[in-house]
Amino acid sequence: MINFSQLRNIMINEQLIARGISDKVVISAIRDIPREEFVSLDFKDISYNDSPLPICKDQTISQPYIVALMTQLLCLKKDDKVLEIGTGSGYQSAILSKIVNKVYSVERFEELREQAKVNLEKVNINNVELVCGDGSCGLDEYAPYDAIIVTAAAPTVPQELIKQLSDGGRLVIPVGQIHMQRLLRLEKKGKQIIEDYYDSCTFVPLVGKWGW
Ligand code: SAM
Repeated sequence: MINFSQLRNIMINEQLIARGISDKVVISAIRDIPREEFVSLDFKDISYNDSPLPICKDQTISQPYIVALMTQLLCLKKDDKVLEIGTGSGYQSAILSKIVNKVYSVERFEELREQAKVNLEKVNINNVELVCGDGSCGLDEYAPYDAIIVTAAAPTVPQELIKQLSDGGRLVIPVGQIHMQRLLRLEKKGKQIIEDYYDSCTFVPLVGKWGW
């Protein structure tokens, strides 16, 4: 019998804290969510590996460190309204849902949206609204958002997403070439946009009107 809780603690110490993840709220959210519930049966025993893992539709659940880093870069507060683009397994949504009151998440595949719904129900999360659609256009009906996280690789920053950020809002998105990107954090301050680049990463492509 695998002791997932022990594996989760080891992952937090060796993959997150050792690499500079220091936000206690982020670490606590990751400690609270059983990642194994978001991973398909074939890969359950390696749920806490230091890597992304396959999910259906040839997509992936992201590497734990990247989930933690992107969440930390969002600098979330409890009453923030957050939009995620690329629901996938629902794991990143679950982490966000432990930190803020309301999360919206858009996925282009209905099958993944349905699986994410099941996964979130298994861990008793009910503050995530799942939407099927082209997230490269954002989700205008609930905008503006205090934070937007894009968990698929974009060729450039979709301007629609910047428009849907509130004043003071933050966007974290992997931007670059199709096989290699850098994490970009962007903050909207009045008419000014402040940009900072972080780690290199490799995400599956953001497919859609403002994607590939
Ligand atoms: N955040 C996910 C998780 O925790 O499991 C991992 C996301 S996976 C790396 C990227 C996801 O983005 C895939 O599920 C893919 O179908 C989705 N995607 C790609 N382009 C999209 C688009 N334009 N709108 C919505 N979802 C999109």
